[in-house]
Amino acid sequence: MGSRAAAATIADAARVPALVIGSGYGGSVAALRLAQAGIDVQLVEMGMAWDTPGSDGKIFANTTSPDQRSFWLRTRTKQPLSNFLGFPIDKDIPKYTGILDAEEFSGITVYQGRGLGGGSLVNGGMAVTPKRENFGAILPTVNADEMYNTYYPRANAGLGVGLVDPTWFDSAECYQYARVGRKQAQRSGFPFVFVPDVYDWNYMQQEQANTVPRSALAGEILYGNNYGKKSLQKTYLPQIKATGRVTISPLHRVSSVTPAAGGGYAVSLEQLNTSGAVIATKGVTADKVFFAAGSVGTSKLLVKLKATGALPNLNGEVGKGWGDNGNVMCGRANHIWDPTGSLQSSIPCGGIDNWNAGGAFAEVAPLPTGIETWASFYLSITKNPNRGQFTYNPATQGVDLNWQTAWKQPSIDMAKSIFDKINSKEGTIYRTDLFGVYKIWGDHLTYHPLGGAVLGKATDNYGRLAGYPGLYAIDGSLIPGNTSVNPFVTITALAERNIEKIIATDF
Ligand SMILES: Cc1cc2nc3c(=O)[nH]c(=O)nc-3n(C[C@H](O)[C@H](O)[C@H](O)COP(=O)(O)OP(=O)(O)OC[C@H]3O[C@@H](n4cnc5c(N)ncnc54)[C@H](O)[C@@H]3O)c2cc1C
Repeated sequence: MGSRAAAATIADAARVPALVIGSGYGGSVAALRLAQAGIDVQLVEMGMAWDTPGSDGKIFANTTSPDQRSFWLRTRTKQPLSNFLGFPIDKDIPKYTGILDAEEFSGITVYQGRGLGGGSLVNGGMAVTPKRENFGAILPTVNADEMYNTYYPRANAGLGVGLVDPTWFDSAECYQYARVGRKQAQRSGFPFVFVPDVYDWNYMQQEQANTVPRSALAGEILYGNNYGKKSLQKTYLPQIKATGRVTISPLHRVSSVTPAAGGGYAVSLEQLNTSGAVIATKGVTADKVFFAAGSVGTSKLLVKLKATGALPNLNGEVGKGWGDNGNVMCGRANHIWDPTGSLQSSIPCGGIDNWNAGGAFAEVAPLPTGIETWASFYLSITKNPNRGQFTYNPATQGVDLNWQTAWKQPSIDMAKSIFDKINSKEGTIYRTDLFGVYKIWGDHLTYHPLGGAVLGKATDNYGRLAGYPGLYAIDGSLIPGNTSVNPFVTITALAERNIEKIIATDF
């Protein structure tokens, strides 16, 4: 038996005090704090555990050579940068419960992590606390003093957030692209700010010195990171396991939650194999259920359960208030005397802050192709005011989102407040070969889905779902569409705040 005994998953017909749906930031915070309070927890995750190396000896696939591990149940890759030099770069892969889901809705593809650790497995690790002056617009009903004195610090500590050493940054070959980004931003009068990350910065320095196996410097990011990134697998999840009170069930997908006859909630689960087929179903009864399936996952479940009569008393706010955090991407073509480097760290460490003047905060992002491209690449987070809504579609028995590609236009206009100015100052132009043939703006996707069970609307001010005592939302679905910066620190901090209150008053 030994340590493998921990691999037992949730038992059919069990009666459990607390069940958490999803193991991203919200789910991990909920599971850890409940367990530390002495409550036995079932943590249910539809993706894989990501603890076993593949045939190449590595757990995660490289960004430049995607394979079956890279995508969630797709037969062809759907890379965010679909083209290079105008040529499409997607390729066929076996269908598998891979790590990155490119979930397609009308007008937008929403990228999400799948597996134990959720989005932390695939993201850039940029761990940004919003400026306090912007917080009132992000979560208007939440006490900012409490967040900035207690819960943001708790989240930053729990996540292992750190900052690049600015002196090392100035000379590191792998951040040439970021130094070009800084120089050009400053020449146009924009503040360039270093952005914290959950990457192990000592490891990064060793990667640059070539004394350890490379991950960020081998371009790893979208399909997982084999070494230096402190995903939830290195922070909250080991702590969760150490409590001895949490049963973790990977490849288990929650399909229904409905009030149980004798009190509590009947939860239906589908156990998947790595082809995505349902190999078993289980039913359990949980006294309390925490929806932490991510903004899209939680919204889809709640909207469907309300519409199909499983949870009819959820209120009319369920599914509303969804936003894309204003994500839009673009590239610029630099002059021949401004190379961005053939070795680029996949972990961004700086951004251009024009939020208050122009509504955009732009990450200076890598384009880790392994060759010199003279390209500067950016992911902008913008103050896009458009909000979508999830609705149940009886014909497909699925959930639709009414987003339209044209709704990104405000984001493009806001990003242009930065890049038109830089182009005019530098005498440069936009790249047109990264998202298709002659297409400047990557306006077809988001990495930052937010909302759908908004705090204080679909729930009370701590995430208790209206209409059902004992049901909670505790993930990105609570946040009304925008955080002004990258979202996961805010998701984590809000979860820390809410679970503390819930443990104190509801158990
Ligand atoms: C490529 C990429 C880069 C990003 N970069 C950054 C960054 O640098 N900084 C930043 O702050 N943010 C970044 N993000 C966004 C960030 O990762 C998300 O905001 C965050 O992960 C959301 O946390 P969450 O707890 O709401 O949900 P998630 O982390 O999405 O976790 C939800 C989990 O629930 C599981 N699940 C869903 N439905 C079910 C179900 N029915 N049953 C069981 N399990 C289910 C999912 O598989 C998933 O593991 C990035 C995202 C992507 C995709």
